[in-house]
Amino acid sequence: MKSNILKNDKIQGNYSTMEIIDNILDFVFPTYCISCGKRQEDFCVDCLVELRRAERECEKWIFPIFDYREPKIKKTVLLLKYKSKKRLAKIIAAVMRDRILEELSELEQFSNFTDPILIPIPLSKKRLRKRGYNQTELICKHLSHNVTGLNCLTGVLIKTRETKRQAIIKDRRKRLKNLVGSFGVKNKELIRHRNIILIDDVTTTGATLKEAKKVLKNNGARKVVAFTFAH
Ligand SMILES: [Zn+2]
Repeated sequence: MKSNILKNDKIQGNYSTMEIIDNILDFVFPTYCISCGKRQEDFCVDCLVELRRAERECEKWIFPIFDYREPKIKKTVLLLKYKSKKRLAKIIAAVMRDRILEELSELEQFSNFTDPILIPIPLSKKRLRKRGYNQTELICKHLSHNVTGLNCLTGVLIKTRETKRQAIIKDRRKRLKNLVGSFGVKNKELIRHRNIILIDDVTTTGATLKEAKKVLKNNGARKVVAFTFAH
């Protein structure tokens, strides 16, 4: 059950409607795991969970789960991001869940990281219009549904300007520079003194997450950590 602690949170989208649509889509257009052939999504949870884990976190507060160099992980991200395979978000959330809960129990114990809110890394308006959805927001909503008591807050951390795709910028400093001032916060009272879990699909140098964290902290957030599907 979702906690009702944050009555003001903007939980966008009704999960049960999403789930119904999901089931209808699955009935009309069945897909099969390309690894084991099971009727599910292009990859199933059982196959994904076996794949190579990210070896090291890039920063102490960033927890990437899988290794992006693993071809199946890369393919999963690309399918979700560019091929409208939105149902993969549910599977990604399912394989991220255990790691998040595990780290959270430690964070709660040692850093008083209680009652956190999930916030997805936003897309700029232009990119959102082009793609039609924010893949990270989809993962976040499924996490919110699957991880007991955590609410997903969207529309608070916003991308205020279009930036070049981080992946095409090789230089680390230029990556950071590309992002400076690209995030903003709306309704900052919703994050004041709150612990926050940022969610992103892939992190490379952590530049995006660092910039997002800075903006959240400047707007009153207490502690910020991040989980990403891959690194
Ligand atoms: Zn499978």
